[in-house]
Amino acid sequence: MSESSADDVVASAPESRVVNVNDDLMNRVIVDDLMNKIVNLSKRRGLVFQSAEIYGGFRSTYDYGPVGVLLLRNVKDAWWRSMVQLRHDVVGLDAAILSPPQVWEASGHLQNFTDPLVDCRECNERFREDQLDDLTVCPNCGARNSFTEARAFNLMFKTQAGPVEGSGADVYLRPETAQGMFTNFKLVQETTRKKPPFGIAQIGKSFRNEITPGNFVFRTREFEQMELEFFVPPAEAREWYEYWRNERLQWYIDLGIPAEMLRLRDHDADELSHYSSGTSDVEFLFPWGWGELEGIANRGDYDLKQHAEHSGERLTYFDPQINEHYVPHVIEPAAGATRSMMAFLLAAYDEETVNGELRTVLRFDPRIAPYKVAVLPLSKKDELVGPSLEVFDMVKARWMADYDENQGIGKRYRRQDELGTPYCITVDFDTLDDRAVTVRDRDTMEQDRVAIDGLAAYLSERLD
Ligand code: ATP
Repeated sequence: MSESSADDVVASAPESRVVNVNDDLMNRVIVDDLMNKIVNLSKRRGLVFQSAEIYGGFRSTYDYGPVGVLLLRNVKDAWWRSMVQLRHDVVGLDAAILSPPQVWEASGHLQNFTDPLVDCRECNERFREDQLDDLTVCPNCGARNSFTEARAFNLMFKTQAGPVEGSGADVYLRPETAQGMFTNFKLVQETTRKKPPFGIAQIGKSFRNEITPGNFVFRTREFEQMELEFFVPPAEAREWYEYWRNERLQWYIDLGIPAEMLRLRDHDADELSHYSSGTSDVEFLFPWGWGELEGIANRGDYDLKQHAEHSGERLTYFDPQINEHYVPHVIEPAAGATRSMMAFLLAAYDEETVNGELRTVLRFDPRIAPYKVAVLPLSKKDELVGPSLEVFDMVKARWMADYDENQGIGKRYRRQDELGTPYCITVDFDTLDDRAVTVRDRDTMEQDRVAIDGLAAYLSERLD
C-alpha cells in the first residue's frame, strides 16, 4: 500500500499554506511531521482514506474506514448520550439533507452564506481573501499583486430534484443541520409537549462548497455536524448561553482532551452576525495553531421569526402561565463531528521509546476508543483458536472487540496500540490448563492473569 503523505493533504490545501506560512521553518517542519504521521496512521490502520483513491483520489473528500467509522461513531454517540439521553429537556431529530430554496431564503443563506473569493491571475489558484496573510503575494506561486477583486461566493451546493430541469426544481444540500430544527420547531414542540427551556438535537451530514478545504478532515466539503438548538424564554437567554459555553467546553475535557489544548474564545463585536448577541468558539490547539471545534451562539429570536414570516406559520410558544404567545430565543451549540474526531485523534497521539524501539500509541478515553478490547490467540493453532473465539463471543456483546490471529504477538500489540485499544486479551497454551488469559493494559503495558470466568467483571470495572 502506498503511503499518503500530509503533503498531499496539507500542500494541496491553500488554506493550510496560508496558515502555516511563517518565518519559523522549524515550526513548519514539526507541523508537517505530525500531520504526516496522523495521515499515514489513518491510512495504514483503516481510519480515514482519501475518497476514490483508486481513481487518484477526490480532493478534500474522505472515507472513514473500518476503524475510523467506529471512532467517529463513538464521538457522535458520546455527544448524543450527553445531549439527548442524559437530559430530560432535549429531544432528537433527523431531518432531510435536501431542502427547497424557501428554507434558505428565510434563513439568509441564499443571500449571505458567502465567502470572499479571489483568484490569482498567474496560477489560477483560488483563495479566501479573509484567510490570506498578505494580499499582495500569492502563497501558491509567489506572484505579486496578481489577485482579482474579491467576489462573494455562495457555499451551498445546488442540485435539481425530479426529472424536469429548471429553476422550479432547484434544491440545496443543507450547509448546516440547524434549519431542520427550526422548520420542525412547532411539530416537535406539539408532539413532545416540551416547554421552553427545551432543545432539539441532531447529528448529520452537511455540505459546503469550501473554497479552501484542507488540513486533512479539518475542512472538507462534506462533513458531519452535531447541533443543538435550545429554545428558551427570552429573559433566560443570557444565562443559558453561559451555561452552554461551559457545558460544551467541559464535554471535550471529560472525554480526555487535555484542558490546555482547549480554550473558549469569545467573538469580538465585529465578528458577530447581526442577530447574535454573543458567540464563543471552543477551540483546539491543532498542530498549526488554534482552530474552531464548535461555536456556541446566542441567536435571539432571529431564526423562528424568519421562518414564521416566510412560511406564514405561527412559530411561537403559548405559555399558559402568563396566557401569552412568545417567540423563544435560541442558544445554539454547533459542533463538527468529523473535525472533533480529528481533535480526539491528535490529542490521543503519543510516541514513546520502549526497549530501544519507538512505540506509537493512541491514548483514547475508553469511550472514544474504536475497539475496547482485542482478543489475540498466541498462535494460530486450532487448540488456541477455539478458546479464543469463545472469549471473543463472551466479550463482543458488551464491548466492541477486535479478533486478530495474524503475525507475531508483539506486532499485534503494536497494532492495537496504534488503534488505541485499551485492553488486549491473549489466549495462550496455559489457558488450556488454567482457564485464564493475559490482559495487557495499553497505557502501562502491564499484564494481569485473569480467570476467564472473572474477565467480564475485570473489564467492566475498567471500561464501563
Ligand atoms: P469555520 O469558521 O471553520 O468555517 P464555521 O464558523 O463556519 O466554521 P459553523 O457554521 O459554526 O462553522 O459550524 C459548526 C461546526 O461545524 C464548526 O465548528 C466545525 O466544527 C464544523 N464545520 C464547519 N464547516 C466545516 C467543514 N467545512 N469541514 C468540517 N467541519 C466543519
